[in-house]
Amino acid sequence: MLKTIEFFEKRGKKKLKEDDHSRTFYEDFIKFQKKEKIFSQLLTPPEYGDKDTRWDMWRNYAFNEILAFYGLAYWYTWQVSILGLGPIWMSKNEVLKKQAAQHLKDGAVFAFGLSEQQHGADIYSTEMTLTPQTDGTFKANGAKYYIGNANTAPMVSTFGKMADTKEYVFFTADYRNQAYDLIKNVCNSQNYVAEFSLHDYPITKEAILSEGREAWDSALNTVNIGKYNLGIASIGICTHAFYEAINHAANRQLYGMYVTDFSHVKQMFIDAYSRLVAMKLFALRAIDYMRVASLEDRRYILYNTMVKMKVTLQGEEVINLLWDVIAAKGFEKDTYFEMAARDIRALPKLEGTVHVNLALVAKFIFNYFFNPKEYAPVSRQDQPQHDVFLFEQGPTRGLGKIQFHDYNDIFKQFELPNLKIFHEQIGKFKDLLGQATPDADQQRDTDFSMAIAELFALIVYAQLVLENAKTHNIDDQTLDQIFDFMVRDFSKYALQLYSKSSTTPQQMEFCNQMIRKPEYDSTRYQKVWETIQGLKDLYEMSA
Ligand SMILES: Cc1cc2nc3c(=O)[nH]c(=O)nc-3n(C[C@H](O)[C@H](O)[C@H](O)COP(=O)(O)OP(=O)(O)OC[C@H]3O[C@@H](n4cnc5c(N)ncnc54)[C@H](O)[C@@H]3O)c2cc1C
Repeated sequence: MLKTIEFFEKRGKKKLKEDDHSRTFYEDFIKFQKKEKIFSQLLTPPEYGDKDTRWDMWRNYAFNEILAFYGLAYWYTWQVSILGLGPIWMSKNEVLKKQAAQHLKDGAVFAFGLSEQQHGADIYSTEMTLTPQTDGTFKANGAKYYIGNANTAPMVSTFGKMADTKEYVFFTADYRNQAYDLIKNVCNSQNYVAEFSLHDYPITKEAILSEGREAWDSALNTVNIGKYNLGIASIGICTHAFYEAINHAANRQLYGMYVTDFSHVKQMFIDAYSRLVAMKLFALRAIDYMRVASLEDRRYILYNTMVKMKVTLQGEEVINLLWDVIAAKGFEKDTYFEMAARDIRALPKLEGTVHVNLALVAKFIFNYFFNPKEYAPVSRQDQPQHDVFLFEQGPTRGLGKIQFHDYNDIFKQFELPNLKIFHEQIGKFKDLLGQATPDADQQRDTDFSMAIAELFALIVYAQLVLENAKTHNIDDQTLDQIFDFMVRDFSKYALQLYSKSSTTPQQMEFCNQMIRKPEYDSTRYQKVWETIQGLKDLYEMSA
């Protein structure tokens, strides 16, 4: 981690921005990670690597955040390597696993060939096919679109179907093979986001990672692991942008006063800061559940999905707030902020859109509220350990059967004004679900059910933030300030639900009762503001 920070700091902001503007492929970063064997150390299961190699979500959290702190492009090459490695480590093909470990040692990056141009989120319609040949081999034909690292990965994990049985299949393709046609970079950025096609690409039985149900499950289970990282990328981007914004605003004088003396600017910083703290608390807590996960405890699937969908949306909110403060400065070409303002938008949209993930979240609502279950307490999971279950997640079905621990338990452990208001808002939402239950038409209407899912997601978000508050010594003032924005967000989503075309009068009445005002406390506000002022001039990237 420290060597990576040193790499970026020594290289400096000027070079970071030049490369961004000239869209220079990050060859130097790939060489650096090769020299230090970083991907190899962080992404190889112990049985395939040297000492100290393991896939440790706690450790990888930090690396995710550091990379995005310096630029989403560097994070992206790591992220798609993670995705590419997913179907490999989940496979039973020992030869390909050993090959992957060797490529990692040699400094290679990996790629995940799932998406196709015509089908987007609809991976059922995949058109890449493997056609059996008389000698027992196969010929692969088809094209993939939006595939990161596919210009340089020796093992591109490629998803397709068997031409004869229509069963799903995952196989690996090498960009150096002459039947591999690298068509173009689809995006205009430092990343290489490839369109490639395979023309009678020869595949032996040994190059197949998985078939049938296993191939399908490994596609979804890989996304389960990878989508966690998108939230962390948002955290890294927001953290760097926050330092730039506070340094600029707190040192700038207008009309004989500092910009940070305006009360609306204070409010924007307080909101940005408390949202960022909540993002970190939630994401770190979600790791705990990923690391204790088992076939009997699949709560991580909800929490993980929310790191993808909720933390990334909060990231956009943080950047919007900061940008409103620093205004013109955020356009300047020498700032990190200019990249942050652009890149933060990507994270909610990629690897499954917000809507795909909200639809997933909605599957958990009933059991969360009406069918809780006792689980052993889960403490902070920062032990140096390989997260083996991530590669043995099993079937992806049965999400509606997953049960959760009772969210009321954690709320009862705190006595803070805004937390209490928020808990009352939850009660009204539960009443709506129980007494004015959305009917079958409303449940089929994705616009309506996503408004319900937004409210639900905010409750789960609040619960895990609270669960992590003591572990990370969050003081009462900061915590209640976090719940100040949560009460406002809850009210906003309640109004949105109220305004849907099919909301019934009874549902509207519950929505009315969910709309609340947070409690203002000037001492609390001032205390949080002082913490934020303490961040001024604390960090500036080296030139
Ligand atoms: C920079 C970049 C890098 C990428 N890297 C990779 C990569 O390395 N590997 C890879 O395989 N892919 C990659 N992708 C593809 C990316 O994962 C897809 O863009 C994404 O899955 C969504 O597909 P789409 O944008 O085509 O949206 P579409 O599938 O066209 O969806 C459009 C809209 O339909 C709605 N929708 C669709 N399905 C559902 C659903 N089930 N429930 C609710 N609403 C739904 C949503 O509102 C969505 O916004 C990348 C894309 C980009 C731009």
